[in-house]
Amino acid sequence: MQPARPAAPGWTLSVILLMINLMTTIPSAATRQHIIIVGGGFAGVRAALSLGHQAGLSVTLISATDTFAYFPQLYHAATGGSRAEASIPLVGLLSDTKVKIIVDTINLVDTAAHTVTGASGEVYPYGQLILATGSVTNYFGIPGLDKFSYGIKTIGDAMEFKQHLHDQLIKGHKPELHYVIVGGGPTGIELSSALSEYMERIVALHGVSAPKYRIDLVEAAPRLLPRSSEAHSKRIQERLEKLGVHVMTGAVVEGETVDRLQLKGESITTKTVVWTAGVANNPFFRNNADSFTLAKNGRVEVNEFMEAGPDLYVIGDNAAMPHGGSAETAVADARFVAADIASKLAGGKRKTYRQKTPTSVIPVGNGWAAVEHGKLHVYGYLGWLLRRVGDFIGYTDIESLSRALRVWGLDNKRQDECPICTKATA
Ligand SMILES: Cc1cc2nc3c(=O)[nH]c(=O)nc-3n(C[C@H](O)[C@H](O)[C@H](O)COP(=O)(O)OP(=O)(O)OC[C@H]3O[C@@H](n4cnc5c(N)ncnc54)[C@H](O)[C@@H]3O)c2cc1C
Repeated sequence: MQPARPAAPGWTLSVILLMINLMTTIPSAATRQHIIIVGGGFAGVRAALSLGHQAGLSVTLISATDTFAYFPQLYHAATGGSRAEASIPLVGLLSDTKVKIIVDTINLVDTAAHTVTGASGEVYPYGQLILATGSVTNYFGIPGLDKFSYGIKTIGDAMEFKQHLHDQLIKGHKPELHYVIVGGGPTGIELSSALSEYMERIVALHGVSAPKYRIDLVEAAPRLLPRSSEAHSKRIQERLEKLGVHVMTGAVVEGETVDRLQLKGESITTKTVVWTAGVANNPFFRNNADSFTLAKNGRVEVNEFMEAGPDLYVIGDNAAMPHGGSAETAVADARFVAADIASKLAGGKRKTYRQKTPTSVIPVGNGWAAVEHGKLHVYGYLGWLLRRVGDFIGYTDIESLSRALRVWGLDNKRQDECPICTKATA
């Protein structure tokens, strides 16, 4: 019979525990190939598609929702367009890859331990981390906006707004007298022009003898699109006015109540305000500020490889880069980072990154769009065709060719949840 072994002294146990801890927190050679992408938007999905086919890598996409939002078409879904163009299940987008999808909201990053932690309590170790959590709405602390204004940042927001328009016609038997869209950027311009056309249609379908209603587009700056050229702003304003949208520039919002929007020196009676005027970086970064250097605008400083630290990439709207805030840029960031990770892990030479100026294409009513690319400007139906081409390219960035064609082709399809509209157009 073997003699009983003496119990391990306290220090031996501590060493064993320390080793176990090190083994689980420092990524081994195998886990360096394990890539976690946080955020299933333009940047996250594109990175997952680019990395998900590569041999030797394991890729997990963690996102707060199970759908991808195609933001450029949300205004369209809010004004009678197809929902399927604007909200696409992640599982379909990534079905041809071996990417694992997890629905969870990541709240915490521990860069020393190489882990992220979700709201579910789950801890996910990573070898390489790509953060692409996008922007959130910013009300700049203006009282009442978070409670009373509508938004256009998710498909849920878009549907809520659309339902509200129909409720006013069905339950109140009249439209709002005064619709107000706040924000003279691309989203406010797209939405106010589409709303003008949509209201004409649904008021007629509901058989409402409409008193004259008004659509205001409110912008605090002296002109629409203050970062574009003056000529471009002017051209778009003229088009909006032709569609019946009343453009108010230099109008500063100070607060909102249940039936009133307060501007500096003026107030508007309305129950329909849509706030499109501000975005801020995802609060995740402020909440994990020890792990990042934040720029003045709250976005994350990154190096020439889009790294915010070792094995830690920050891309899309989250990164403090000159051309952030566009889907085109987010996709380009993702392609670059996917290539960088592959070459870094293979011990290859790494290239540095320079963002390109994105093209701005803003639809202003059906069949008309304004295009701006550096000094090149195009307006009207040709602009609209370019937008359609741009949308097709946008879908092919995240979809196979056949699926992109199918979703893109939905543009003319109307989606009438309202029983009156459905009956009238049947
Ligand atoms: C209404 C609207 C219209 C727009 N129109 C255009 C346009 O016409 N052209 C253009 O180029 N750009 C447009 N943009 C801007 C463009 O959509 C963004 O720049 C782009 O989506 C940024 O991509 P992203 O991947 O960084 O973030 P997003 O696409 O916003 O994706 C972020 C993802 O992260 C997820 N997420 C957020 N927090 C967490 C978390 N803590 N944990 C896990 N997941 C999280 C979100 O659910 C989302 O899936 C528009 C934006 C809006 C709001």
